[in-house]
Amino acid sequence: TKLSVQFPIILLKRKITIFVFVKVDADVTVLGSGPGGYVAAIKAAQLGFKTVCVEKNDTLGGTCLNVGCIPSKDVIQYSCLFKMFYLATLSERGKLCLTVTGLRLNLEKMMEQKSNAVKALTGGIAHLFKQNKVVHVQGHGKITGKNQVTAIEKDGSTQVITTKNILIATGSEVTPFPGIEIDEETVVSSTGALSLKSVPEKMVVIGAGVIGVELVRNLFNLLSTHFNCCPVI
Ligand SMILES: Cc1cc2nc3c(=O)[nH]c(=O)nc-3n(C[C@H](O)[C@H](O)[C@H](O)COP(=O)(O)OP(=O)(O)OC[C@H]3O[C@@H](n4cnc5c(N)ncnc54)[C@H](O)[C@@H]3O)c2cc1C
Repeated sequence: TKLSVQFPIILLKRKITIFVFVKVDADVTVLGSGPGGYVAAIKAAQLGFKTVCVEKNDTLGGTCLNVGCIPSKDVIQYSCLFKMFYLATLSERGKLCLTVTGLRLNLEKMMEQKSNAVKALTGGIAHLFKQNKVVHVQGHGKITGKNQVTAIEKDGSTQVITTKNILIATGSEVTPFPGIEIDEETVVSSTGALSLKSVPEKMVVIGAGVIGVELVRNLFNLLSTHFNCCPVI
């Protein structure tokens, strides 16, 4: 980061005005801070390249850390525990040697714990960036020239990065389904499914890929006491 500072100083009135212009020059600019982007950025910096990572979201870590692998496994871990204890409530019927009574799911607490795990891990990436001298630029990155990336922040302000190399690691987004609006309340994507406010008694899952199957089998079926209530199309 280059800082050029101008000092129009009016000594007599004892007032000082300082204008700071920040211009970023980089060897490598990485677009996106998911597992692809942050690992590449840290490695580039460790190899001695002046590295900038542009991320449009408020937190680092991409899908995996924010709305993917980490929160889904966190929720699944608790849902497995719930199932284990739920099965123990059936022990009166002679199924297990444990008896559990008064079992209740605190979904709000479970979501809070999931958010804490996400916060700790995304914060960990920010720490690793600092430690390895990766410059984090927040904003929607656009390639605006052969050796130029412009990061546009939410308030419309821009930061121009002059860079020798550009690495695109912008990942993927939920595919919109024709004719169905995803409001993340009634119709949810995997992102909304990881932040539900209550456990749905019935649910239709469109898409039986890894994520869909994982959510149905390991999450909702375990959370709900109404097993087998989630038809998969
Ligand atoms: C529910 C769920 C569970 C999953 N579980 C697993 C699992 O258990 N194991 C596993 O291996 N994988 C899992 N995945 C897949 C995994 O999350 C992805 O494979 C991984 O996140 C891809 O990493 P990436 O860096 O390529 O992209 P992403 O993680 O999508 O990161 C891309 C980043 O780029 C940013 N970005 C996009 N465009 C711009 C732009 N123009 N300017 C600036 N920033 C931009 C995005 O905001 C994002 O932060 C799961 C995914 C989901 C949704």
